[in-house]
Amino acid sequence: MKTKGNLIVISGPSGSGKGTVCQGLFRELDNLHLSISATTRNPRGEERHGVDYYFLTREQFKSMIAGDQLLEWANVYGNYYGTPQQPVIDAVNRGLDVILEIDVQGALNVKSKYPHCVLIFLIPPSRAELEMRLTNRGTDSAGEIEHRLQWAEKEIKEVHKYDYLVINDDLVAATKRVCAIITAERCRPRVF
Ligand code: 5GP
Repeated sequence: MKTKGNLIVISGPSGSGKGTVCQGLFRELDNLHLSISATTRNPRGEERHGVDYYFLTREQFKSMIAGDQLLEWANVYGNYYGTPQQPVIDAVNRGLDVILEIDVQGALNVKSKYPHCVLIFLIPPSRAELEMRLTNRGTDSAGEIEHRLQWAEKEIKEVHKYDYLVINDDLVAATKRVCAIITAERCRPRVF
C-alpha cells in the first residue's frame, strides 16, 4: 500500500525568507510538491502566472470559493490568497509531501481540517533585520513595509499554535532545519 504524503505548512512574516527556504528544500529533498496559491494581488517584479501564483480577479477568486475549490483562503493585507485544493489532494495521494507557503490564518484553517498536518513558523532574528530585508527587497513602499511589520507582529503572537519554530538567522542553516523537520515527520509511524 502506498503511503500518503504529509501536508507541510510554512508560515512567517513577509521577508522572513520563506520563499528562499522553500526553494532550498527542493534542492535537498525528493518527493516534494509545492502548492501554487491563487491571489488577487498584482504580480511583483518578475513573478509569473502559474509559476509564482495564479493571479486572479476578485470575481475569479470568489467563484473558486463558491465552487469549493480552495483548501483554505484568507484575506491578507487586503488581498485574497487561497490554496487550490485538487492539486494538493492529488500530490498527497501520490505520496508526495506538499509544501504550503501560507499565512497564519490559512495555516490554522488547514490544521483544523487536517490535524496531522505539520505547521512550521519561520521568523527573522529580529524586527530590525526584517525591516532591513523588506527595505532591501525594493518592491514595497514605506507605507506597505510598515503595514507588513505590524502584520508580522500580529502573526508572531500565534507562534505557539505551530508545531515548529525556525529562526532564519542564516539561510543555509534554516533550510537544513526545515529539511530535518520534514525528514523526521516522514519517520513517524502511521496507522494503516
Ligand atoms: P506575498 O504577497 O508577500 O507573496 O504574500 C503575502 C502573504 O500571503 C504571505 O504571508 C504568504 O505566505 C501568504 N499566502 C500566500 N499564499 C497563500 C495562500 O494560498 N493562502 C493563505 N492563507 N496565505 C497565503
